Amino acid sequence: MKDVLEDFRVSEAPYWRETGDEITLFTAAWDARIPVMLKGPTGCGKTRFVEHMAWKLGRPLVTVACNEDMTASDLIGRYLLDVDGTRWQDGPLTFAARHGAICYLDEVVEARQDTTVAIHPLTDDRRVLPLEKKGELLKAHDDFLIVISYNPGYQSLMKDLKQSTKQRFGAMDFTWPGPDVEAEIVAHEAGVDADTAQRLVEIGARSRNLKGHGLDEGVSTRMLIHAGRLIKGGIAPKAACSMALVHSITDDPDMRDALDAAVSTWF
Ligand code: ADP
Repeated sequence: MKDVLEDFRVSEAPYWRETGDEITLFTAAWDARIPVMLKGPTGCGKTRFVEHMAWKLGRPLVTVACNEDMTASDLIGRYLLDVDGTRWQDGPLTFAARHGAICYLDEVVEARQDTTVAIHPLTDDRRVLPLEKKGELLKAHDDFLIVISYNPGYQSLMKDLKQSTKQRFGAMDFTWPGPDVEAEIVAHEAGVDADTAQRLVEIGARSRNLKGHGLDEGVSTRMLIHAGRLIKGGIAPKAACSMALVHSITDDPDMRDALDAAVSTWF
């Protein structure tokens, strides 16, 4: 019989450059089955870290990109009609809880509040999931763990997690790694030499100083990797930075000028 979790196993080690004690902390949370909240700006490595940890712990990973149209049924499951009548289909959260996977809800704050509340009974000592439509009270598998990501920069009063949700999680803050480590990551992921990676990281650091002064977010590690890949592919560094960093992060002409100036300093 096919292993239902086969498609969710992380077979090869996803590259992760440790920057602190994040592996130890996550492992301890896993051992204690404490749900984990990864906090930090987009593109700083949260998703990659969960992939790495799922591989390290030998657990399958079910990832859900949350969005504002997502309903509780999208997470939990629903009845479907097929030739034999109706058939229950587990949603990703139910599937992970039933079979013992790590369930990663990316950008959970995007989801409607009724959706986030649906995870509550799974994130306290009960570790159950009521499937009301199906009339089942699912007891989570011992190896089930819920992990969510959260970008504090985007939050507003209208869009934030309830305290009752936040307080169910152990939280880990993710920030940009130090310049040498970030350059190592960019060089590894983009396949560029150390000098090019270092220059890209300097541009990234400049852009992050503009956060709150015209930019909502600084250039992320992900964007630096994109620029590096374009350079690796033969695009001139300035054009690569223009496409991957400057034009994607802002439409404001003054901000673009400021970023272009940073690019010209380094390339
Ligand atoms: P997030 O989920 O925070 O939006 P990602 O996990 O997608 O961000 O990170 C973007 C990219 O940055 C990853 O694909 C990976 O290449 C790289 N990255 C960031 N931090 C690290 C790290 N510490 N080790 C390895 N790769 C990293």
